[in-house]
Amino acid sequence: MKFNTKLIHGGISEDRNTGAVSMPIYKASTFHQKELGKPGWEYSRTGNPTRQALEELMADLSDGVAGFAFSSGSAAIHVVLSLFSAGDHIVVGNDIYGGTFRLINQVMKRFGVEFTTVDTTDLAAVEAAFQSNTKALYLETPTNPLLRVSDIEALSKIAKQHGAHVIVDNTFATPYLQKPLDLGADIVVSSATKYLGGHSDLIAGIAVTNDKELAEQIGFLQNSIGSVLDPEDAWLLQRGIKTLGARMRVHEENTQALFKVLKDDQHVAKIYYPGDPASSSYELAKRQMRGFGAMISFELKPEYSPKQFIEQLKVISLAESLGGVESLIEVPAIMTHGSIPRAERIKDGIQDNLIRMSVGIEDQEDLVTELQNALNNLVEA
Ligand SMILES: *Cc1c(COP(=O)(O)O)cnc(C)c1O
Repeated sequence: MKFNTKLIHGGISEDRNTGAVSMPIYKASTFHQKELGKPGWEYSRTGNPTRQALEELMADLSDGVAGFAFSSGSAAIHVVLSLFSAGDHIVVGNDIYGGTFRLINQVMKRFGVEFTTVDTTDLAAVEAAFQSNTKALYLETPTNPLLRVSDIEALSKIAKQHGAHVIVDNTFATPYLQKPLDLGADIVVSSATKYLGGHSDLIAGIAVTNDKELAEQIGFLQNSIGSVLDPEDAWLLQRGIKTLGARMRVHEENTQALFKVLKDDQHVAKIYYPGDPASSSYELAKRQMRGFGAMISFELKPEYSPKQFIEQLKVISLAESLGGVESLIEVPAIMTHGSIPRAERIKDGIQDNLIRMSVGIEDQEDLVTELQNALNNLVEA
């Protein structure tokens, strides 16, 4: 089955009991066991048919052996990091989601897990960060909000030489654009709240592995920690995933069109987009991904105000989050990345006037016109 067919028919796509073409929402905490000690459904934290349909679909789409659904992306990452113990060391990308940074620094470190942050676009720096107790390399690609791309295949080779697992946060790319497990990673995690769900109407997380032993351990932790996705949202997420391919194609076309507007405009100082042939990420993104995604960041020239720019927009809404059908815009320094100390943020390349856009699937003409008009109407501050 090809990918877009799998989105609809992969995993368990219909109810084995009734033939219903959409897996029903099995709202039950416990299950009547027909015979003492006979395997079957037991308790919904341990396993639920609606959640299982989603989990098998995600394993299928990611080329893994098992998938696990959680109540949020953060819960998925927490369970995966719980594979490690006090005294274990993890090499982690320096350009990761703020919530993951917080989970590492304010939670996992209290349990004695050690971390070293490193720029994962720099292979030599990653190699140098490994220690005798390094058990994993954790990275994101493309990153947020600067859309930097790291070489999963090359990084996995380095990690394997040190006997370490590779964990990739694939939230921005989704399995439509990028399959980390096929490039050497062992575990892929995603915030399904973003593109997988795709409609800004649920919070969910997914972990998939292609290693049977890791699958057993993650399943054990999922059941032990208990941060599982409930059957209603599992159903809604599977419904969203069916149109992932159709949505991503429009997301990407619209992003290309908006990129051209920004590229040709006099008010724009800098663009961060892996689909920009002038970007240092372009060649690697072309090789590693099926497309360039639908996130684009940019800076206006210093004499123009992001506030004046954003206040003119109507279709494109000022909001955090990303990956939904609606176009969203934000200023990371004030919004999503506001909790990072300014000096650190600037050092990481996130300027005060950086603007990040999550391009939706509205009519391209409306988005292009709105962006162009807002740029044309800018006046020097
Ligand atoms: C949003 C996000 C998360 C966290 O997911 P939640 O569903 O909000 O818990 C993790 N990683 C990345 C890259 C994200 O964008």
